[in-house]
Amino acid sequence: MTSQTPSDCLFCKIVAGEIPSDRVAESERSIAFRDISPAAPIHVLVVPRRHEPTVGALAAVSAEDLADVFRLASRVAEQEGVADAHRMIVNTGSDAGQTIFHAHVHLIAGAAFSEGRML
Ligand code: AMP
Ligand code: ZN
Repeated sequence: MTSQTPSDCLFCKIVAGEIPSDRVAESERSIAFRDISPAAPIHVLVVPRRHEPTVGALAAVSAEDLADVFRLASRVAEQEGVADAHRMIVNTGSDAGQTIFHAHVHLIAGAAFSEGRML
């Protein structure tokens, strides 16, 4: 799917603190930071510390890491006051809009949701 490796992975560098991010929460297994190009008033990325290219690959190797990403996303939704009105979106593959091949979940809220697409 991609030749990107952890050594040139943007999100690995953000996890390591080598590239700055606006971090809003973290756990032992995951971190959450604001998207640099928000698609809605609240747009947070939740990223496992472990490098896997997709959420599916993460699920295949670690149920605990997969669960933790969604647990942290839910915690951020509560923190941001949108526990009852948010979306969690996962893009897999460049044809579906994935641009960073380190698994992540988009937490999006604060906009009126229509039936149309958000991302
Ligand atoms: P995706 O298209 O699902 O792979 O999502 C990647 C997301 O990462 C996009 O929404 C980008 O705006 C976001 N992004 C790219 N670079 C950064 C960065 N340095 N800090 C925060 N978010 C970023
Ligand atoms: Zn990575």
